[in-house]
Amino acid sequence: MSDRPNRGISITETGGPEVLVHDDLPEPTPSPSQVVVDIAYAGVNFIDTYHRIGLYPMEFPFTPGLEGAGTISAVGDDVEGFAVGDRVAWSGSIGSYAVRKPAEPDTLVHVPDDVPLKTAAAVMLQGLTAHYLSTDTFPIRPGQNVLIHAGAGGVGLLLIQIAKLKGAEVFTTVGNEEKALLAKGAGGDHVILYRDVDFAAEVTDIAGHRPIDVVYDGVGKTTFEEGISVLKPRGMMVTFGNASGPVDPVSPLDLMRNGSLFLTRPTLFDYVATPAELRWRATDLFAWIEGGDLDVRIGATYPLADAGAAQNALESRQTTGKVLLVP
Ligand code: NDP
Repeated sequence: MSDRPNRGISITETGGPEVLVHDDLPEPTPSPSQVVVDIAYAGVNFIDTYHRIGLYPMEFPFTPGLEGAGTISAVGDDVEGFAVGDRVAWSGSIGSYAVRKPAEPDTLVHVPDDVPLKTAAAVMLQGLTAHYLSTDTFPIRPGQNVLIHAGAGGVGLLLIQIAKLKGAEVFTTVGNEEKALLAKGAGGDHVILYRDVDFAAEVTDIAGHRPIDVVYDGVGKTTFEEGISVLKPRGMMVTFGNASGPVDPVSPLDLMRNGSLFLTRPTLFDYVATPAELRWRATDLFAWIEGGDLDVRIGATYPLADAGAAQNALESRQTTGKVLLVP
């Protein structure tokens, strides 16, 4: 265990980024079934902002952050399969905006020696999301037309690459020219600046009437309805996030009127429901990284004390790829 005191972020009330207070935290000691991890990097995710503003209710006070990577520094007596010094990563263990945290072994995966902890922290939550969306929610088949919103974001850049690995034709939307270059570099075939043009009209211009097999929509409120309008009959709308706000209620009859569409609102935690499923998906991601098939872009790294600035950047569309915190 490092001899640095445990410090991290505490939240005692809902609010803006200013409610993220950098403070002393209790020194974690593992229960017999837990380990303690020295955190090298913590991931910043949209869900952290939903916890902060109360969209996904939490009990206060709490330390935010579900994702990170680090080294095990203490092991409870009953823990099997993990030892002090092991390099591990996680995507579903709250309290990651800290120097150290206790963790349940079932939430951890081992990080291969040739994958840096920085990359591991950057790929866990958004990478596992891109994996389940493309492999299970709507298993992409070669030649299918896929529309991915916010293609230069954390999930977006990874999902574009995985969709291309699976042989899709990728349509993707982005907020500005710099993001367009990144989405193109990740393999996007048709990159649409959806703040400048009507993306549904653009998709139709490129590929004709209702050409899309699946829409992956993490933007939510501002894109959902138009996304429905570009789907093929029996296509699938995967609404998986609320970056622009939650989607309004939908009538099942609208799905019928638009061509017997499928609608799903998935969350990662149901797709890593067992340790075996978590490790299977993570193993795929690490193998793609090791094989050079998946590039993990880290767009920004902030000191842990600046977590508020990091969340503010994410919420105000200033980031690309992954945002990390360094304790
Ligand atoms: P991103 O890095 O993609 O950041 C969000 C992006 O959304 C922005 O950069 C911006 O890109 C776009 N956006 C469009 N409108 C807005 C708006 N009004 N305010 C803010 N951003 C906007 O974030 P993540 O990759 O972390 O997450 C993407 C989405 O996926 C989020 O909604 C998140 O909640 C969701 N998610 C869902 C999971 C699940 O299992 N259901 C798991 C992980 C993430 P641009 O400028 O190009 O428009």
